[in-house]
Amino acid sequence: MNTVPVAAEPRHSNLWDLYSRCVHCGLCLDQCPTYRALGTEMDSPRGRIYQIIQVAEGRLALGDSFVTHIDRCLGCLNCQTACPSGVAYGSLLERAREQIAENYQRPWLATWLHKHFYADILTSFGRLAWHAKSLRFYQRSGLRALARATGLLKLMGVAELDELSPPIDSKFSFSDLGKVFPAEGERRGRVALLIGCIASVAFVELNRATIRVLTKNGIEVHVPERQSCCGALQLHAGYLDLARAQARRNIDAMLGQPFDAIVTNAAGCGSTLKEYAALLEEDSTYGERACEFTAKARDINEYLAAIGMREPNRTLHARVTYQDSCHLAHAQGVRSAPRQLLRHVGAELADSPRPDSCCGSAGVYNVVQNEMSMKILDEKMGFVASVDPDIIATANVGCMLQFRVGVRRKKMQTRVAHVIELLNEAY
Ligand code: SF4
Ligand code: SF4
Repeated sequence: MNTVPVAAEPRHSNLWDLYSRCVHCGLCLDQCPTYRALGTEMDSPRGRIYQIIQVAEGRLALGDSFVTHIDRCLGCLNCQTACPSGVAYGSLLERAREQIAENYQRPWLATWLHKHFYADILTSFGRLAWHAKSLRFYQRSGLRALARATGLLKLMGVAELDELSPPIDSKFSFSDLGKVFPAEGERRGRVALLIGCIASVAFVELNRATIRVLTKNGIEVHVPERQSCCGALQLHAGYLDLARAQARRNIDAMLGQPFDAIVTNAAGCGSTLKEYAALLEEDSTYGERACEFTAKARDINEYLAAIGMREPNRTLHARVTYQDSCHLAHAQGVRSAPRQLLRHVGAELADSPRPDSCCGSAGVYNVVQNEMSMKILDEKMGFVASVDPDIIATANVGCMLQFRVGVRRKKMQTRVAHVIELLNEAY
């Protein structure tokens, strides 16, 4: 297992301390998907760091140009792990986005959508369920088919966005809140499972597969009732206070019980759970508990590889290319665990060029920066297609949705799956 703590700097770190580690060597440039796509310094990590410090020191206006280049950043951290000087790019980016959220006036529609999405929908499973049901009605009632057939979506310029929206499930994972799933055979551990926001309405089978793989491997799974969305989307958009509120709710819901680990099947959520300690370091009530929480947070791949999996019932006869999720490889340092698990169930692994380069999903990036996201995806699909896999495996629901679009765009027949779904089929 190849694990390092999430690369979050303490929030009291001086901005100059973070910035001054950059020696402008440019070794990060080729790792940056937006720089590869555009070739402009302002859209490279080095250029963004330069702009961030200029704004912080009042030499550059916090205006349209700065916001454009920061908005174009995926937050994928491909640059952070490439940097030989240890520049904590993720921390710099979070601060820049917080500054933008607090000081920059976006057009009224964008402002309203931000507030509605980040402050209302994501902060309540009830409101999320209501919106998911509305989307499901649109998808299943014939409205979507009609909008596609009449060309209305293309006319409105939202056909690509429609493609990206995941099929909403009939039942949601919220019905599992408060349940305990007993271990099969001798009990080897006890974990709390974070069910996630989007995963709970559009990847219910993945959550079930996660519970099944854990219980088959002797782990008792609790789904704590009062948990909430992890706060990742708010954190990455610069709404740090909203992310802190979510963190406090999850700490209250999951700490204080004898869990060996707090587990998630989404790389983006996992990296945020591991950031709670840094996020709440100045909170006198929650600071210490946040450290305890972060110490227990585990990605499901990392957890299963650490406990050692039981022998599967059947072998997976398939050529699989594992594509690292940025928030697992670059933010959490977990690279070998998913590959190890796939090999354990018999997969033939085919590593493509740049397996850990961002696919362009990046939370809501593929929605709000759709054109750039598709450019990045097309490059990525070229790497993936070069190894002719039967299955593209990944460890994050956002990446799964993006790869499904990539497969359609490239007219491939390849299946896209989460590592855990493949493990589930082997048990
Ligand atoms: S961020 Fe790191 S790799 Fe990039 S230019 Fe600065 S020192 Fe070099
Ligand atoms: S986080 Fe990703 S997109 Fe942003 S500067 Fe770094 S490599 Fe480029």
